Amino acid sequence: KKFPGDFSNNPMQRNTPKVLFSTIAPAGFDKPQLIAFNKTLSEEIGLGNFDEKDLDFLVGNNLPDNIQTYATAYAGHQFGNWAGQLGDGRAILAGEITNDSGKRTEIQWKGAGATPYSRHADGRAVLRSSVREYLMSEAMFHLGVPTTRALSLAFTGEDVVRDIMYSGNPQLEKGAVVIRTAESFLRFGHFELMSAQQEYKNLENLLDFTIENYYPEITASGIQKYKAFFESICTRTADLMVEWFRVGFVHGVMNTDNMSILGLTIDYGPYSMMDEYDLNFTPNTTDLPGRRYAFGKQGQISQWNLWQLANALHPLIKDEKFLEDTLNRYGNYFWEAHDKMLCRKFGFDELRKDDEDFFTNWQGLMQELELDHTLFFNQLEKLSSETDLKAAFSDISYSVLNEEKLGKLKNFIESYKSRLNSNTISREESLQMMAKSNPKFILRNYLLYECIEEINHGKTEMLNKLTQALETPYEELFPEFSAKRPPEYDDTAGCSTLSCSS
Ligand code: AMP
Ligand code: MG
Ligand code: MG
Repeated sequence: KKFPGDFSNNPMQRNTPKVLFSTIAPAGFDKPQLIAFNKTLSEEIGLGNFDEKDLDFLVGNNLPDNIQTYATAYAGHQFGNWAGQLGDGRAILAGEITNDSGKRTEIQWKGAGATPYSRHADGRAVLRSSVREYLMSEAMFHLGVPTTRALSLAFTGEDVVRDIMYSGNPQLEKGAVVIRTAESFLRFGHFELMSAQQEYKNLENLLDFTIENYYPEITASGIQKYKAFFESICTRTADLMVEWFRVGFVHGVMNTDNMSILGLTIDYGPYSMMDEYDLNFTPNTTDLPGRRYAFGKQGQISQWNLWQLANALHPLIKDEKFLEDTLNRYGNYFWEAHDKMLCRKFGFDELRKDDEDFFTNWQGLMQELELDHTLFFNQLEKLSSETDLKAAFSDISYSVLNEEKLGKLKNFIESYKSRLNSNTISREESLQMMAKSNPKFILRNYLLYECIEEINHGKTEMLNKLTQALETPYEELFPEFSAKRPPEYDDTAGCSTLSCSS
């Protein structure tokens, strides 16, 4: 049996000897209990078959000698302000595992104990946040959105104290550990740290390491290589934002320490899928009232974050004009990619000049009629001349569709139909494109909330069902999941306690 796999390659140093990490062992837990395990991923990355006695590995107990564990230091801008040095406060890396075809994957425990970067926090994670990370990262993967992934979810058997919303009323919650995986967990913040400390040689080494390992398509050398990298991370980040807009994902805490240098969705904290379309929606209670990280701002915030990365890389690239031009092009690139994405969601053959106005009208309609983002597009796919608009769209609205609103809806649907009629592709082709762009299942926040409640009561029915549903999000596996959020929940369903770190 090939367990725990080939950990012989360890990227701990990342060409930056002794400056970006500290070795640290997981705390160890007496009575771990497995909640979920991702067998497909385990086989894919080279961990082989799992059985019950490997549970110790999943919470970081009694690790074999071939695994050297460590936490990394990084820095970051949090809510727009320079926060100085941060680091993996409750993530411990096991280095990389290599599978039979040579593919390397970083593995890390989240919630397995304190590290030198934990500051005053405990290095633990609670069941609630661990279930949310485990399920949502897998949901994003199956939606086709670049993301870190999740291998396992286990109770530690230990209780953790949490004072939700700093109410002065601390509660005990069950502790849990998630193993998450990624090609690399490097963040913008790692580069910001090297730059802020004026460790320019290490900054260069780190960037060389990143390009060599994760950007093999870059063949230029010297400053050209770094410029190509910067253009590439801009493109990857913009593409990621467009994907978030496509599926209606709000990250909730887009600090630069939560921005992946590979353009992955990383750090699932106070995120939420959006039910009713709302550009101002933020699930993060610590982001009120500013709403810096609201749904509709994610494009411009990612650009702001890339400015910080540009500042950090300036000592290597040394060309302000290039960096500014690249960042200024970012806006155009993002909007064009965004509008092309909307074309696919609507089933349009190509992006035309008038489509921009159409999309603006659509946003206004969605907000005013409080329509469900996901169900709206599902409804468009079903649209025919017989559709009773009032009935069909009342089902997916969170408000009452009075005569005035219905009138606006009818006008919009007319303009949609005439745009469809001008398509140069067939209705079938257009529908196929829509089916691939519009999920039928999204992991809504209230579903997560119910799932967590169940697990807390020792039941896993919902967990199993959600796990199945999220693996085929473009099909309708369970009809009850293809309905709008039930009225007993508001748009903060289970969100009212979401903040950055739990
Ligand atoms: P986040 O807002 O989740 O990205 O967290 C910000 C920083 O706080 C990161 O460096 C985390 O590693 C750290 N952190 C969050 N929660 C904990 C915890 N329970 N123990 C130690 N560090 C934590
Ligand atoms: Mg983080
Ligand atoms: Mg976090």
